[in-house]
Formats: sequence, structure tokens, C-alpha cells
Amino acid sequence: MKTALVTGASRGIGKACALRLAKDGFTVAVNYSRSEEEAVKVLEEIKANGGDGIIYKADVSDLAQVKQMIRDIDKQFGQIDVLVNNAGIVRDSFLLAQNMDDLSACLDLNVKGYFYCAQQAALKMFRRKQGVIINMSSVSGELALAGQSVYSATKGAVNSFTRVLAKELGSKGIRVNAVAPGFIETEMINALSDEKKEEYLKDIPLHRFGKAEEVAALVSMLTRDEFSYITGQVITMDGGISL
Ligand code: NAP
Repeated sequence: MKTALVTGASRGIGKACALRLAKDGFTVAVNYSRSEEEAVKVLEEIKANGGDGIIYKADVSDLAQVKQMIRDIDKQFGQIDVLVNNAGIVRDSFLLAQNMDDLSACLDLNVKGYFYCAQQAALKMFRRKQGVIINMSSVSGELALAGQSVYSATKGAVNSFTRVLAKELGSKGIRVNAVAPGFIETEMINALSDEKKEEYLKDIPLHRFGKAEEVAALVSMLTRDEFSYITGQVITMDGGISL
């Protein structure tokens, strides 16, 4: 059976990806760093739907923990077919007020964490000359939103990194793409006031926020053999906000 690792899968977009890939037939490794209870619930839901998987606690901004996680998953299932680099954080701030701990946390997780997981997973994928890596980017990787200099920089890095990895790994049978969502209904959006939501909605031609399940459907598409000629792409899903 094929194996998929989804980082940051205890809630939000990562959870939706884990549930979707399990429905597609993958054995799913549900990574989390702190929210064990939520991760357990994701695995229970996977199993209730007839799927299979494990939960795996690891801080993906820590190389030693990533190495151990990839080694353990590969050993347990014999292969890693799909990596969804999803765990990410937002620490919005204007430049002049930027807290340097937040800056480091964002770079460590959103950039170095993606790099660590991609490198360690690719080392395993090399062996079988096949694999799919999907990096969760954001429209902020291209759009300039005031207060998001750090987050935008990390997602811009994810986009460049995706294109370069696709070139480096294509000959090894590994495809690398990124998904760049706009505003997606997760806890982050649900916590906004009605006024703030209305303000954001004005800029979205489809006049609604996206659903985590819609992002997961795009991720699922990119894992499929019928779309195996797609690599090195950053695919936007944002209701038209970036038009
Ligand atoms: P979320 O609801 O905040 O979930 C983040 C997930 O990442 C959680 O499962 C969290 O688990 C995990 N995580 C955080 N730090 C981690 C670490 N160091 N190691 C491993 N896991 C860690 O986030 P989301 O809104 O679903 O966003 C997921 C991804 O989509 C991010 O890369 C984000 O930038 C991107 N995105 C989101 C939106 C949106 O509108 N929501 C739009 C565009 C792009 P623990 O609690 O266990 O740490």
C-alpha cells in the first residue's frame, strides 16, 4: 500500500489532506508537534472511514526529529510515496515592530522545515525512483499584504524552492509542486470578526472563503498518475483574489 506523510495534520488544511489521501487509499502518517488529542481524532476519523495510518509527533523545524520521523515511517511501511509539506505558521507584524523570535520561528518552520522534510523524504524516494512532494504555499508568496513581510518571504521561498527541486529531482522520478491557497476556512479565519471577514470577502471575486477539503482535493489530484506530467508548478486556489 502507498504511504503519505502529511506534516501539521492535526487540524486545518493538513487534517483535510490526511483524510483525503486516506480515502484515496494511502496509509497516512499524521504528523503533529503539540496537539496530540487532535491528531488522535484525525487518525480515528481515518479509520472510521475505512482507512489506515499512524500519528507521529515531531517538530519539523528540528532536523534531528525530521530524520528520525522519516526513518521510522520508511521502516514501518517500507516506502514513502507522498510528502505533503504543510506545517506552517503565521506571525504577522509590521517591519518596525517585528519580534525576532517570531522571525526565527517562521523561517525555521516554513522554510527550513520544508527543506528538511523534502531532503529526508527524497533520500528515500530516490531508491524506488518515484515520489511526489507537495509544498503548501500561499497566495502571500506572490501578493504583498502589509504586515506579512516575513510570512510572504517564507512562502516566496517555498515557491522558488519548489521550482528548483522539480528540476533537481525530475530525473529521479520525483515530482515537486506547490499549492498556493488564498483565504481558507480554518480556525484562523473563523476567529476573525464579521467586519474583518466582510472586508476580506470584498476582494474575492467568488465572494466566499475556500474550504480545506477543496485544497485537499487539489493535493489529491497532484498525487495521481494521470497528472504525472505536472511538476515545478505553483498552483493557486484563491477564489480569484490574485486576478
Ligand atoms: P493551522 O490550522 O494553524 O494548523 C497548523 C498545523 O501545523 C497543526 O496541525 C499544527 O500542529 C502543525 N504544526 C505547527 N507547528 C509545527 C511544527 N513545528 N512541527 C510540526 N507540526 C507543526 O494551519 P492551516 O491554516 O491549516 O495552514 C496549513 C498550511 O497552509 C500552512 O503552511 C499555511 O501557511 C498554509 N496556508 C493556510 C491558509 C489559510 O487560510 N488557512 C492560506 C494559505 C496557506 P500542532 O498544534 O501539533 O503543532
